[in-house]
Amino acid sequence: MDVKVLKKSEIIKYVALVLAFVLLITTVVFGVKNNKANQSNAELSSQLAENESLLQEKESENKALQEEKENLDKLYKDSLDVNTYQESMVDDLNKQIDELKKELSTKKGKNDKTTEKNENNAVLPKPIPAKGKTVYLTFDDGPCSLTPEILDILDEYNVKATFFVVNGKYNYLMKEIVDRGHKIGLHCYRHNYKAIYSSDEAYFEDLQKIHNVVKKETGVDADIMRFPGGGSNTISKKYSEGIMTRLTKSVVEKGYSYFDWNCYNGDADGEKNVNKMVENCSKFPKGADKIVVLMHDNKEATVKALPYIIEFFKSCGMEFGVLEKGMEYTNHPVYN
Ligand SMILES: [Zn+2]
Repeated sequence: MDVKVLKKSEIIKYVALVLAFVLLITTVVFGVKNNKANQSNAELSSQLAENESLLQEKESENKALQEEKENLDKLYKDSLDVNTYQESMVDDLNKQIDELKKELSTKKGKNDKTTEKNENNAVLPKPIPAKGKTVYLTFDDGPCSLTPEILDILDEYNVKATFFVVNGKYNYLMKEIVDRGHKIGLHCYRHNYKAIYSSDEAYFEDLQKIHNVVKKETGVDADIMRFPGGGSNTISKKYSEGIMTRLTKSVVEKGYSYFDWNCYNGDADGEKNVNKMVENCSKFPKGADKIVVLMHDNKEATVKALPYIIEFFKSCGMEFGVLEKGMEYTNHPVYN
């Protein structure tokens, strides 16, 4: 064989084979690689798509939640409004109930008074013409639990009266007596004849004490008074001879006017019959132009009789007045 020829053709053949082989390997290798890359690329794409749809899903979920929250907020606000509205409705209703209760109790009170009047079935004495005379209703020994009822009756008839007060647990009512336009006077601090009439000093110590109570409760410097038992009492003789003769002068010297009475409904002597009490009042001295009526606001019977007593005096054509310091009036004779 010719080496040179062989060599040349062989070389070309081998080179071609080698080139083909390299080409083949390269194609195979690149093809695999490309395939792999394509594969992972597709995977990534599908993952991306998946994530995108997940994101969209979450976004729409989020939007739905947001809407729900807004709805709930609105509902909450509405319920608050409803609540406020209901509260104001409840307030209004409570006010209406209170007003109705008040109205009911007023009506009940009026009804009770009417019934009471009818039950008492009082027959007023025939009117005694007394035009131009003045009647002074006076109440001793209060204030007490019945005083508000007395004040209500006086208001109902638009009549003012005079209260000679004592110290007690109803002292706070002294202000109401004054505030409702009545006259307040002094009776005593301790309603005890032995204690107050044992000496002039004991008497004035007691009078000053009740003066101070009235001043403290009402701001009034009382200038009228009434002696327990009246200026004519003789019981004081047991404790101090001649004390009423001295006291009736010295109270005036100390700036007071004292008032006894010339008419009495009988309540402190146990009189309970309304007709009898009005009849007692009808026995006022016909020659006097000032009728001072003694009553006690701590007597139940007086509360019952008071409307008829007032009606009786009105039927006689009398005016009603309150006692004032310096008023001309004839007191009882003094016996001690
Ligand atoms: Zn008294």
